[in-house]
Amino acid sequence: MKAHIVTLPGDGVGPEVTAAAVAVLQAVAARYSHEFSFEEQAIGGCAIDAFGEPLPAAALAACQQADAVLLGAVGGPKWSDPNAPVRPEQGLLALRAALGVYANLRPLQVHPALAALSPLKNEKLKNVDVLFVRELTGGAYFGAKTRTADTATDECKYTVAEVERVVRRAFDLARDRRRHVTSVDKANVLETSRLWRSTVQRIAADYPDVKLEHQLVDSMAMLLLTQPSRYDVVVTENLFGDILTDEAAALAGSLGLLPSASLGEGSNGLYEPIHGSAPDIAGQNVANPTGAILSAAMLLRHSLQLEAEAVAIEAAVDHVLTHGPHTRDIGGQASTTQIRDAVLAAFEAHA
Ligand code: ATP
Ligand code: MG
Repeated sequence: MKAHIVTLPGDGVGPEVTAAAVAVLQAVAARYSHEFSFEEQAIGGCAIDAFGEPLPAAALAACQQADAVLLGAVGGPKWSDPNAPVRPEQGLLALRAALGVYANLRPLQVHPALAALSPLKNEKLKNVDVLFVRELTGGAYFGAKTRTADTATDECKYTVAEVERVVRRAFDLARDRRRHVTSVDKANVLETSRLWRSTVQRIAADYPDVKLEHQLVDSMAMLLLTQPSRYDVVVTENLFGDILTDEAAALAGSLGLLPSASLGEGSNGLYEPIHGSAPDIAGQNVANPTGAILSAAMLLRHSLQLEAEAVAIEAAVDHVLTHGPHTRDIGGQASTTQIRDAVLAAFEAHA
């Protein structure tokens, strides 16, 4: 198949990990006879430096016309002055809004070979395979805000339609997994959560084959640490999802391992590792490219419907995590490019 992929390497380690992910996508194209074209665009701090804005019009237009978008990371100390007129993160928020990507998917696995790095102590707890589905374009982050000298408000608003589309996505995803959805809310206190829960209950009737469980967000924060292997798909609103997914990321052992996908109505999507620009290690060829490479696998799966290719990349990554080499963040000595080459070798050997 033909696909046009826009890359937004961004700042810090973004270009290094994105280059590794692109190399893997090129190997997939060669191995499976696909025609992938790549177009690099600027976002974040580097775009502010070059064009005076964090999401130049040309970059946005390219992303809107692409079949999928692969992003590295944005931001860094050079652009972190809170009084600066423009900030790198604004580019990412504007891109998410423009692409209408309301469902943020974050798979979490604790790889057996890295179990020692996880803060989870009990071996049985380490068999973790959770897919978080976080609502990304509503709730308190986007509601009206007010501020006077001594009072501030953040409106948290959800419509049934906003809840329904992300919850349906979660149920659909559960059908390809272990058919268990956990919906997280605070329905004992919040009206938006009561709307969320009643909407989830109505939609669940269309998925009799999927088991539904409700959890309050405060208990869920605890259960993620005490019984993480119980969960399959976890769906929740924007703010709760932001907090729970960062908590969950800590279980994996390193931020550098985890991918994400942000999806909307069409097949286009935004794919990025969950880590930030890691300015402390940028430019040294030591960043772990695994999260970026697994994001490329999610791109193949969700935007291009190339499931076998996605699985082949995941298997290659699994092979490297199991047998090494490993980057410094997970206790090894290997460079970014050595991990790229090891994943490519495992892919060529097994695909
Ligand atoms: P942001 O504000 O952009 O989310 P952050 O403050 O969460 O960023 P990161 O940039 O993700 O922070 O970095 C947090 C720590 O994790 C740093 O010490 C960084 O070096 C490390 N880190 C992040 N990504 C990677 C990676 N791919 N490989 C190795 N270490 C990483
Ligand atoms: Mg962060």
